[in-house]
Amino acid sequence: MKIFTQMESDVRGYCRDYPVVFERSKGSEMFTVDGDRFIDFLGGAGALSYGHNNEHIKQAVMEYMQADGVLHGLDLHTKAKREFLTTLRSTILEPRKMDYKAQFTGPTGTNAVEAALKLARKITGRQGIISFTNGYHGMTLGAIAATGNGHHRGGAGVHLGGTTFMPFDGYFGPETNTIAYIERLLEDTSSGIDTPAAMILETVQGEGGVNPASGEWLQGIQALCRKHDILFIVDDIQVGCGRTGTFFSFENMGIDPDMIVLSKSLGGIGLPMALLLMKPEHDQWDIGEHNGTFRGNNLAFIAATTAFKRYWSDDSFTTEIGEKAAILRQHLQWIKADFPELNIEVRGRGMIWGLEIPQKGLAGEVVNEAFKRQLIIENCGTGGTVLKFLGPLTMEKAILEEGLGLLKEAVQAVYQQHFTAAGSNS
Ligand SMILES: *Cc1c(COP(=O)(O)O)cnc(C)c1O
Repeated sequence: MKIFTQMESDVRGYCRDYPVVFERSKGSEMFTVDGDRFIDFLGGAGALSYGHNNEHIKQAVMEYMQADGVLHGLDLHTKAKREFLTTLRSTILEPRKMDYKAQFTGPTGTNAVEAALKLARKITGRQGIISFTNGYHGMTLGAIAATGNGHHRGGAGVHLGGTTFMPFDGYFGPETNTIAYIERLLEDTSSGIDTPAAMILETVQGEGGVNPASGEWLQGIQALCRKHDILFIVDDIQVGCGRTGTFFSFENMGIDPDMIVLSKSLGGIGLPMALLLMKPEHDQWDIGEHNGTFRGNNLAFIAATTAFKRYWSDDSFTTEIGEKAAILRQHLQWIKADFPELNIEVRGRGMIWGLEIPQKGLAGEVVNEAFKRQLIIENCGTGGTVLKFLGPLTMEKAILEEGLGLLKEAVQAVYQQHFTAAGSNS
């Protein structure tokens, strides 16, 4: 263990919550060098929706490597990229009647966000971006300027300009319609808010604490964008690729974004890859205007293509996710009901769920208690008060229920320490 603290920068994060050394992983389980088994509710922070070492995807990737397929391809035409684009169109876009062109950016989500923001600024000739309270879009300067979290913003070290934050759905509680507020600011030419190039949002805020926006609110935002000629960007990096049950998080919600960014689980088994989808008329780049050495991760193209064919050729995966989503939701509701003193709130859609314990520090304690029981789950949101489920979509129901049982035990342990005579009452 010493090598990590001696050699690796203090910036490391997740490993502090789960201080073991992992060696193998399969499906929804991870195994340490000591042979201990952990259930994974973290899922590579959303990059492992098809599970660790997904057998179908792994086989395809191994075959490609065996045959000396091109691994690094800049933005050259390759057979792997041709198959990816063909499959993206035939299994994802055409069945949904969606017409988009694809830009391969550098392989991180934040780079696809940078590309989207730059392109929106170029198209409109405006500089401003509207993003939303508790939004998370990445760690490079353009994306961080659109990210709400003060800790992350503080790390930038320079003035973060060009972004105005508006209240997300429900920010002032369920009674306040934040669309009305945003509308007033955009319509009033003396509000101090210039018409922006774009609005960017997550349909379910992931890092910001699992905050789902309603379809009605999203439609309201899109209507404002259309009215004021503002580009509408959906950041589907965390909740796309099936997390909410459908491939895109906003299907059946009555919106039609100008641009969509995808990453995280796009690369199938955790291989880095990011994609900007834009309506064809928005493809206004000059040649090479946004580039990057690692835009052609051909191994990720193979993995992504395999995942599309295997999981998105029909509706069966959506049905499967729906069944597991119901189990997840039910168990979290039971935990909420079992510990009324914790004032738990349960939020989510599909297979992203948050369990908020408002009292400061308690959710973090649950993370530690869960780890003792060999369950990996993270906390997020302002002050880290929200426990977040982001486990693989392919998780077997038995493991899901086992993990939820461990989560309940962990909540109970924290509850007992704080709220019963046996514990040191707070
Ligand atoms: C993770 C994430 C990003 C950033 O992706 P990276 O690959 O970490 O750069 C951007 N937006 C959302 C919604 C994310 O969850």
